Amino acid sequence: MPELFIGGHWTTALDGHSREIRCPADGSLVAVVDEAGPKDAAAAVAAARDAFDRGSWPGTPAGDRGGLLLRVAELLEREKPTLARAESLDTGKRLVESEYDLDDIANCFRYFGTLASSGSGGRVVEVGSPEIDSRVVHEPVGVCVLITPWNYPLLQTAWKVAPALAAGNTFVLKPSELTPHTAIHLMRLLTEAGLPGGAANLILGSGATAGAPLVTDERVDLVSFTGGVVTGRWIMSAVAPTVKKLALELGGKNPNIVFTDCDFDTAVDYALTAVFLHSGQVCSAGARLLVQEQLHDAFVDEIVHRARNIRLGGPFDENARAGPLISAEHRQKITDYVAAGIDEGAVLRCGGTRPDDPDLVKGFYYPPTVLDDCTPDMSVVQDESFGPVLTVERFRDEAEAVALANDTVYGLAGGVWTQDTEKAQRVASRLRAGTVWINDFHPYVPQAEWGGMKQSGVGRELGPSGLHEYQELKHIWRNTAPRPQRWFE
Ligand code: NAD
Repeated sequence: MPELFIGGHWTTALDGHSREIRCPADGSLVAVVDEAGPKDAAAAVAAARDAFDRGSWPGTPAGDRGGLLLRVAELLEREKPTLARAESLDTGKRLVESEYDLDDIANCFRYFGTLASSGSGGRVVEVGSPEIDSRVVHEPVGVCVLITPWNYPLLQTAWKVAPALAAGNTFVLKPSELTPHTAIHLMRLLTEAGLPGGAANLILGSGATAGAPLVTDERVDLVSFTGGVVTGRWIMSAVAPTVKKLALELGGKNPNIVFTDCDFDTAVDYALTAVFLHSGQVCSAGARLLVQEQLHDAFVDEIVHRARNIRLGGPFDENARAGPLISAEHRQKITDYVAAGIDEGAVLRCGGTRPDDPDLVKGFYYPPTVLDDCTPDMSVVQDESFGPVLTVERFRDEAEAVALANDTVYGLAGGVWTQDTEKAQRVASRLRAGTVWINDFHPYVPQAEWGGMKQSGVGRELGPSGLHEYQELKHIWRNTAPRPQRWFE
């Protein structure tokens, strides 16, 4: 069946192109889907533009928009088994992880549904005259292009679609070409929930042929992009000629700082999930372990011991604890990355070679890998791997820990492990990152903003700011008793 969704109708790619989607766990064919090109992208933007300029959605009362999002949350819960399975087949991630993601996705719609419903009539500005009614109101930005990556396909989509709709925008969504299925399904649920045709549009295809034309189209008002920093830089320059609003959620090279006074067993346990969850394909992965000198040997020995025992397997293998990488190309990138680190002097403590287990050879598996004795000048310490690779650096004191942690172009997230509350707060306040966890790693809630400092991005998703990204501010000044000014008399 056709998989592009334009102007409220399912349609096939105009050029007749298609793409095979294969499960990373074993290379099996999941489906063949439409592959859009520039003509499809232009049609989707036209539909979204028309729905914004002439359709009912932007003028729908905020409470009703919120109500629709709450219905979508219920539909997502109803469809959880189907969606979780689809997400796991596209990404190769464990089914249980996809199920957790689905809960978060429904909660995201619920949060923005509630936030939209609580919208006010604007902020009254006191101007010192009883004859003036002055207020600042929120309005939708217009046509939004939403571009998402393959690691959390529907979750990253929800972080954009829910606030964009809550604010009254129309949109064109382009998910990663590798993981399109849950985005297709979402279009059906939005329609079932009652979203008018043209408000939501879906384009599938590669970044170059389907994504780039969306970004440069002058009828688009805002681009919200989640993905790699190289693509993000290109998008930033590509929107400049038409001065679009821009939100970027990019990569990270996140430090996880462990002091000697941590709770050892808990810190080891979390250091493993920090980096090896979803085989490291997490933007906030704690891929740089900074461990205090005196604790280094015991801590890293324990990490290596437990990392060696992480069982790899496909999404439906209940004994597996980590899945494959997204593609053969991505695995090759990780292989080269680790080799470069060893060349630069890092010490390989575990992992580093592709598994030869017959159950795994058809998939794109790479084992949890620990590189010890790393230094800040190494490429493995500076570049995001987006794979199951932990680098280890040592520090002497708090000042050195903070300096090492901040020695990166990224600033997405970081963790601090110590039982000294004041020290934890001091370090947290000095880390240049959008999220800091103290004695924890990875949790987030839709009520709190998410995003990066430095080259990890521009703007914030989630929280009230995540809604504001999709709103324009308008100041409306009403003179209730107008009289001639006679300025020129
Ligand atoms: P990517 O940049 O290769 O692709 C992301 C999306 O952009 C895909 O849909 C792709 O098709 C599209 N794209 C690529 N080139 C484009 C172009 N020229 N114009 C328009 N669209 C284009 O990233 P990826 O490999 O899919 O995802 C991994 C990256 O995403 C990592 O760097 C990771 O850190 C980052 N990420 C960040 C967050 C966050 O919240 N900060 C969350 C998830 C992933």
